[in-house]
Parts: sequence; C-alpha cells; structure tokens
Amino acid sequence: MKINRLIVGIVLSLCALGSAPAFAQDGDQILDGIGETGLISRYQFKGDVRDWSRNNLHGIMQGTDFRFMPDSLFGNVLALSGESETYITIPGEAVSGEESLTITGWIYLRSAKSGQVFFDFGKSAGSRFFVAPAGTKEKPGLQTAIVAGSKDYTTSYDAVPLNKWSHLAVVIDIPAKTMSTYLNGVLAVEVKDVALELSQLFDFDTDKNNQLYIGKPIDGGKTFLNAKLSDFRIYRIPLTARQIGRIYYTGLRGGNPQAGRRGQVEQSLPVFAATTPQLYNAFLVSVPDTRVETEVGHLPRLPRYVKGVYSNGVAGPDVRVIWPAPADNSQVLAPGTYTVTGKVAGTSLQPRAVVNVTADGHDHAPQRTLEAFDLEQVTLNADIHNHKTKFIENRDKFITGLEATNPDNFLYMFRNAFGQKQPEGAKPLGGWDSQQTKLRGHATGHYLTAIAQAYASTGYDAVLQARFAGKMEYMVNTLYELSKMSGQPRTAGGEYVADPIAVPPAAGKTGFDSDLSVEGIRTDFQNWGKGFISAYPPDQFIMLEKGATYGGSNAQIWAPYYTLHKIMAGLMDIYEVSGNEKALEIAKGMGTWVHARLSQLPKETLISMWNRYIAGEFGGMNEALARLSRITGEASYLKAAQLFDNIRLFYGDADHSHGLAKNVDMFRGLHSNQHIPQIIGAIEIYRDTESPEYYSIADNFWDIVTHDYMYSIGGVAGARNPNNAECFTAQPATLYENGFAAGGQNETCATYNMLKLTGSLFLFNQSAELMDYYERGLYNHILASVAEHTPANTYHVSLRPGSMKQFGNEEMDGFSCCNGTALESSTKLQNSIYFRSADNQALYVNLYVPSTLTWTERNLSVTQATAYPKEDKTLLTINGKGKFDLNVRVPHWATKGFFVKINGKEMKVAAVPGSYLTISRKWKKGDTVELRMPFSFYLEPVMDQQNIASLFYGPVLLAAQEPGARTEWRKVTLDASDISKSITGDPSKLEFTIDGVVYKPFFDTYGRHSVYLDVVLK
Ligand SMILES: [Zn+2]
Repeated sequence: MKINRLIVGIVLSLCALGSAPAFAQDGDQILDGIGETGLISRYQFKGDVRDWSRNNLHGIMQGTDFRFMPDSLFGNVLALSGESETYITIPGEAVSGEESLTITGWIYLRSAKSGQVFFDFGKSAGSRFFVAPAGTKEKPGLQTAIVAGSKDYTTSYDAVPLNKWSHLAVVIDIPAKTMSTYLNGVLAVEVKDVALELSQLFDFDTDKNNQLYIGKPIDGGKTFLNAKLSDFRIYRIPLTARQIGRIYYTGLRGGNPQAGRRGQVEQSLPVFAATTPQLYNAFLVSVPDTRVETEVGHLPRLPRYVKGVYSNGVAGPDVRVIWPAPADNSQVLAPGTYTVTGKVAGTSLQPRAVVNVTADGHDHAPQRTLEAFDLEQVTLNADIHNHKTKFIENRDKFITGLEATNPDNFLYMFRNAFGQKQPEGAKPLGGWDSQQTKLRGHATGHYLTAIAQAYASTGYDAVLQARFAGKMEYMVNTLYELSKMSGQPRTAGGEYVADPIAVPPAAGKTGFDSDLSVEGIRTDFQNWGKGFISAYPPDQFIMLEKGATYGGSNAQIWAPYYTLHKIMAGLMDIYEVSGNEKALEIAKGMGTWVHARLSQLPKETLISMWNRYIAGEFGGMNEALARLSRITGEASYLKAAQLFDNIRLFYGDADHSHGLAKNVDMFRGLHSNQHIPQIIGAIEIYRDTESPEYYSIADNFWDIVTHDYMYSIGGVAGARNPNNAECFTAQPATLYENGFAAGGQNETCATYNMLKLTGSLFLFNQSAELMDYYERGLYNHILASVAEHTPANTYHVSLRPGSMKQFGNEEMDGFSCCNGTALESSTKLQNSIYFRSADNQALYVNLYVPSTLTWTERNLSVTQATAYPKEDKTLLTINGKGKFDLNVRVPHWATKGFFVKINGKEMKVAAVPGSYLTISRKWKKGDTVELRMPFSFYLEPVMDQQNIASLFYGPVLLAAQEPGARTEWRKVTLDASDISKSITGDPSKLEFTIDGVVYKPFFDTYGRHSVYLDVVLK
C-alpha cells in the first residue's frame, strides 16, 4: 500500500506543476500510473480473494485444495493444487456493460498439462474468452481465445514456462479490433480484425449469467489449474503496451517504490500537427490586442474569445485565445500595467492583453435578489402535440422506479451499523452500499432527497404523492430511533459516551479501523456520542482526523463526510417539503456532533483533511451546515460550515495569499466532483455571512471551469493527465492535450453539481451566460444520461470516437455516486425553468419547457406551451393580472434573431444573444407572449484542437449515429461560408444527415455515437 501512495505522490505533484505540490493528493487513486477509474477489480491473493478496488467485486474461493503461502517475490500468494475442483469465481457484474477489457496477472505454472485455464470468462461454453497457459486439448502452447458463436479468434504462442513467475496480460480492444497477449510485459501475439462487441461474450442484461472463473474452464472440462497466482486485475480500458510494461516491471521489483516513475500521458488519441491552423483559424489573419482591468491581488479575467480578422470574407466566430494560467498572483501584487501574451491553437498568432492593475477597490459581491420556486409550484406538461417530453419521460421512469422501492433496503446498513434486526423482506443494496463498502449509506441520503422531491413534484397524482409521504415518514422514524440511541446507555444505568470527541475505539481494540465486515463491525452505539447517525460507526470520521487515506484496507477510509452530506441534505429536504420535525432533529443532532469534533482540530489538520484525495471528499457539508444554520437560527452550524473551508482551494494557503478568491486556478488536476460541491457551499455560506470572498470563489470557479475544462455536453471531468477519468485536466484549456481519458469523461454527478452551482449563482447574478450553461448541461448531459426505457443511468459519459453510453442501476439496488444524483436530477427537472425576484416584482423565464407555474405569491399562473426544442418558439400565457417584469432568456446561440409577439402583435425589441430581455407591463388575464428564436447550426471546437468540434443546432447537441466502434474521429467536411448548406434533415424531428450519416440529439442517442467530429471547412 505504501508503494502506491508514493507513486501517486510523485505522479500528482508532477501533474500539478507549480501549483503548491506540497498538497499532492494521496490515497489509492492511481496504481502503476493508471487511474482507478480504469480498474474494475484487483485480487492480490495475499491471504484472501477480496477485491482491492472500491467496487467490492470480491472473489469466492470454490473447493478446498488451495493455500496462501509465502513467496520471495510477492510476499504472499495463492497456490491452487490442480488436484480437485478448486478455483475462484468473480461476480458476473464485473464485465457487464463494458466496451473493452484488459486482464492481467502473475502466474507460476506448476504443471504442463493441457486444458488448464488461467481464466475463462463468458456466458456459456459457446461464448467465452480464455487463456490456456499450457495449451488446449487441441493445440499446444499458450492459447488465448475468444469464441463467440461462429466467431473464433485464437492465438498461439510458446507455452508459459514452468516453475517460474510469468506475467500475462490480454487486451481486447474493441474499437481497434484487436486481441493482444503480452508475456512478461512484451507483446507476444496479436490478432487483428476482431469484429466483436463484448455483449456477444457476456450477458449484459442478467449479470449472474456471466461465468467468470480463475482456474476452471467454462466448458465443463475437468482440468484445473495447478499454479501459484498473484495480483490478478481486470481493467475496463484497453491498456497500452507501456502500461502493461509498467505493471510488469513494478511487480518484478516486488512493488519496489523505486519502480514507480512519473505517470506518462496516455497517448491514444489521434495527433495533429500543432502548427496547422484548423477550422476557422485557417482563415484567421490577426487578433487585435485587448485591455483588461483588475485590482491588486486579483488575477485578471482575460477574454477567452476575441473578435478576429478573417480573410476571404469568411465571417468566422470570435477567436478562442488561450492565455497563460499562473498558479499564484505574484504578477498583480502592485498597481501598474503589464502585458500577457496568449496563443491561438494551430497558429503562430500571439494575441496580447494589456492588464491594468489598479489599487484595491471595493467589493463587488452582489446581493441575492432572486428566489427559486418550490418544486410543487411548477408542473411539467406534455408538448403542444400532446407528446410526452424528454423531461416527462425521464421523470416518470424515476417516479415509477422510486415508488417500487422498499425503504427497508435503504435502511439496511443503518440497522446493521446499530446492530438491529432487519425487518422481513429487507435486502441490502449492492454497489457502494454493500456490507463492506466504506461509503455505505450514501444512496440512502440521495434516496431521502429523491422521495422528498418526488413527493413535492407529484401534486398531479394524490395516490402517488401519498405513497411518497408514507416512505418519508417511515424512513425518518427509523433513522430518528437509531440516532436517539447514539451516546445513550443501552440499558438503564449502563455505561455510555455522550461526548462526540470522547468516542473510544471498539471494545478490545487499541485504535480505530474501518472494518465493516459482518464479523468485524462494531455496534456499540452507546459509545458513539450523542446524535450520531450514519450507516457505519464513527471510526472513519476519526481516522480522517488522524491522517487516514482513501483505499480499501481497514486502515483506510472512503469519504465519511461525503456520505454524511447526502444524509443531512436528504433529511433537510424532507423537513422542508413536509415539515417533519424529527427529520430536522436528526440533522441537528449530527450537526452538533460534527461541530464538536471539528471545532477542536488545529487548522493544519483541517487543511490536510480537506485536501486528501477522496478520503477528505465532503460533498457539500459546508452547504448543508449553512442551510441547517439558516433553518434553525443556530450560529454554531454556520461556524461548523466554515470549518469545511478548503483553504488551499479557496485562498491558496493558510495566509489567504491568493486562491480562487483572487481568481487563481487552484483546482487543476484535482478530482472534479470532490471540489464542485465545496464551491456550492461557498455560495451558500456567502448568503449568510455576506463575506465577499465566498462569492468571488464561486464566481471565479464557475468562470474558469466552464471556459477551460468543459466538454460540449457540459461535463467538466475526464483527464488523461493526471490519468483519472474523474479529475480536471492537469492544466486549464488543454482538453485535447490532457483530456478525453480512455477511462471516461463527464462524470454525471459532477454535472448535477455544476447545475446546482449555476442555479445558485444566478440568484445573485442574473447573467444569461449562467442559464445558457444550465440549458447546455440539462439537455445534453442530464437528459441524455438516462436509459431509453428504464431509470438506469450513466456514470462517466465518454465522448471519444464511436463511444457508447453505459447505463446502470436499473433496479435501484446498487448505486454509484452518479446513480445517486440521478435520483435527484430526475425528480426536480422543473426546478430552474422559472425564478422570481425576492420582492415578487419580476419573473425570470430561463428555460423553454412545456410547464405550468403557479406563482402563489402573486396569485397568478403562467403556462408555457411549446414543442421546444423540436420547434424554435414558445407561448407564455399569463393567467392573472398585475404589473411585473417578465425577463426572458435570449440564448447565446440565438444569432438569427429573437422575436416577440404580445397578444399576437409583433413587438419591436432589441434582443442581444446571451442576455435577458425585459418586458415590463401591466399584465391582464389571458395575455400571451410568443417568443421565437430561430435555431441555426454551429460548431463548438475543443479549445486547443479546433478541428475537433461538436455540432449544435440551437440548444441541441447533435451526435453522429455510428454503426460500430472506431478509433479515429469521424471526418466531416462542411461549407466554410455556411455550414448548414452541408446539412439536410427535419428540424421538427431533430434528425439530420451529413454525407449519408444520421445525426440525432445526444439526448436521443442510445447506440454508438460521435459527439466530437474532425471537421474541415471548404
Ligand atoms: Zn459520480
């Protein structure tokens, strides 16, 4: 374990060059240079067959003829005798839904008998993937084979040598159509033109039909493996030769830390000449200099887009300029003027910005002038053709799924932690809530929020609404009873520890650990301090304070405060929609427990905790506690919220030298979803403290992240460098150079949180740019993240060539983080269509979605009728009367005009794309406002590789529908003067064709797709 931590330290401090390497993140996030998001499972075989990864895909030892024995190279290994039916099974879900696979492991073969298999994975004897190290009955030598019906891809090589350790790795790379076998870190044999999808090998619908064996053939053969085994791994990505080489060399050195060299950027994307101007830049002549003002200490906000001068009469778009991104504010410490030189991808142009640094000014932090409507005030409607919208479809999938859930399943691990009996029919959840997963309880928190939102959103069906009311009541009552047991005597007069800071180790132990196994979990709730509630004992919270890192061992932890945030937020959501006082009581108890513990820690400890990769991930604890303080009027909760300040991210260092508060990008290379909710917390704390830094932190973060880290669907995570699909790229504005990780991009929960942050910021600053982003992320990621017919949903959404969405958790019984936020997203889809001013004198129409708003405060309603985005207009009808400002969003893409008719009469308006248009009027009952905003096609290039671009039509991202997997970007040639000349199709169906290839909205795409295209303008 030590080794990995060292490697990670080295890798990350190199990735985050210049940006305070003292805070390099640790924990088991990168193994042998490969981010954990690429790893499905890992079996070290040091004394058990448990999965080392966070996925808890533990193996099961079958038979008895095995032993764990010492080994000079690997310390401890598993020995299978081959004498009787002894082998290992791996859960069938390990391979479900994957596109490609890599299997690696060490084998010390002790018998030359043919028919032995290293592993054999498949759904049947006729559909399998295996490695026979000493040959099959038919063929001698090392055999690697895929058999799928009539397809048979087999390779042969020299047999694996006897009585010595060999490293075997097999890569099935579906896009590249290869199956490669590596022996001792070197490619031994490869078969090309493997025309296959893994769904032909495995059952993607019913996991348990997959047979994943180590040491036993699927076909009923009676030859069992006689070998020693070590470090068997399954990856969801096709590893490169270099990555396999590194695993081999690190292993050979017994995991010697010296073997851990810096992580290399995985180079598996097509490379283009850096000096070839692409797309509109090919016609670019010059980019004028700009002038920017800033105040002492604050890095300037440099314009990402500057009007360019083009040749040949081409009306090119504003030019994307990439500016240097300092890691501190040393350039702006005194008033004066300096010049910054930027670059334009693919050109030698060097646009300049003259920065004028002025003396410290005043604070510009705005007031919160808007409020959101309650969920029950907005109802989603069918479109004008009476068709269900995507909004309604997705909502109904989740409402139906949630209605069918058994609350006892979501309470299972809570009762387990408190040593209580399970009621009849209760079943534990799988995924990250299983018995030994250190994040268990997280799904329960999301569930509390989801049923609260479902309750508030189902006013259209009284029976349904009553069911959700019942679920809320039951959940809260049970959690209330448990929380009241914490820190109280078990029986009258018994011993107990009520003080949260005096929690002792479990009986018989000298320290704290995260053992949650049935045999190992502590259930002495009387010692946990008053008010404690969680699905595990308090140890993980205490271990975090003592320096524990993220990982699977009992000395490691996984984000205790993250889990707690979900639970507390869920309880407050229930309180706010139903007035359930017990729910608030539980949240208060735990808020007090947290304040007691954190308020006695030195600042250095807090800084260290909140900067620890994933272990210190606390979701939006700061947001939840600030909210709790506002609900209860109790100041200590707001103090507790501020103890979660991520000092390094917010202020650069303990002296508050710079950080996001002064527009310094402190999050490059960090885990995206660990940090976005912390920013939501900053804006929530600002609401109550009015300390302007908190606003600046949120505002600067949003500006940097959406301009310099965002994919076209609105997602912001997915780095090749550092090699982790959940991290921001190592440097800003380098999405092509450092992004598009093979392990995936666009973690869906990160976009959930980006939307939440965006909505919060808009209440303070009514910039249309915010709601333009909201529309982008909502339509092109959140709506696009749900399966066609079920509530199954995405985790990462890969946008590499020919990718396919992977959906999980159809039965709501095994949650990842993103499966959790999906419950929330799809039960509140109506929450940002309208906002109102706090004084109820203005209405904001942000999104064009068929819906009815009941503006209770003004005693009127507004109906919006449209088929948007299948048409380019919407009709608002005001039912009620009175004077108010109607503010309607003129989207940034509405470059062909924005037309307003009031009661059928065309109005003369000066509407600017990317702004709000205010219509002030004394409204009377039945007044109508028609808004028309013609859609057009436009490209959104990747900032540092302009030819790689997404095609949009109005708000809708169009994806090429791909017939199969591919390794290259789809090439498209479009008319330089007007790209729409190259596109045909039906806007009312949002279906288009370019060169015979069909393009559909990404939110209507379920097969293989290309969201990014390699575009040439002619
Ligand atoms: Zn997630």
